[in-house]
Amino acid sequence: MIELPADIREEIVAAARAGVPDEICGVLGGSFGVDESRVRSHYPAENAARNTRTRYRLDPEEQLEIFDQLEARGEEIVGFYHSHPRGPLEPSETDAAWATWPDRSYLIVSLEADGSGDDGGESNGDDDLTGEGDSSADDTRRTRLGSWRWRDGADAKAPDAEVIDGSVSDDKNGSSDRGEFGDEGYFERERIVLE
Ligand SMILES: [Zn+2]
Repeated sequence: MIELPADIREEIVAAARAGVPDEICGVLGGSFGVDESRVRSHYPAENAARNTRTRYRLDPEEQLEIFDQLEARGEEIVGFYHSHPRGPLEPSETDAAWATWPDRSYLIVSLEADGSGDDGGESNGDDDLTGEGDSSADDTRRTRLGSWRWRDGADAKAPDAEVIDGSVSDDKNGSSDRGEFGDEGYFERERIVLE
């Protein structure tokens, strides 16, 4: 579960809309918990990907500067956000390949032109922001928010934990094993609680 203040949600959504057709990205700061986090601030970052329309990447140096900023404010790294200008809401395979921070939240803003996403596949509806009174010119785009925790493959709660535990065996050099089995991680959808 991630608590997201309404004003921060609005700012991130506005940035996502303003960034079209590119993906926008940034860092979420606040109080971090493995299952419950609370966002207190967000830090927009430049999208350093080569193809910013379909990818996002935080520049490592800028990311470090942001981490310094939020730590100086007494905050923790809650997670990361980025947009999917043409949807879908769900994390892509690339998102999973690049996810590296165990138990952090990966918030996605999906913008889809009306009609393109109505095949039922992605319409969970629970985080649908449509009809909340935004009458701007952009409301032809359907805006949805979703959040996922990146669960490391070494996590005992993973569905395939038995297989992975077998491979890891004794956790003598745990941190290096963690990297080796990083590919086994998965995104676990979490609830967004708006404040
Ligand atoms: Zn993505």
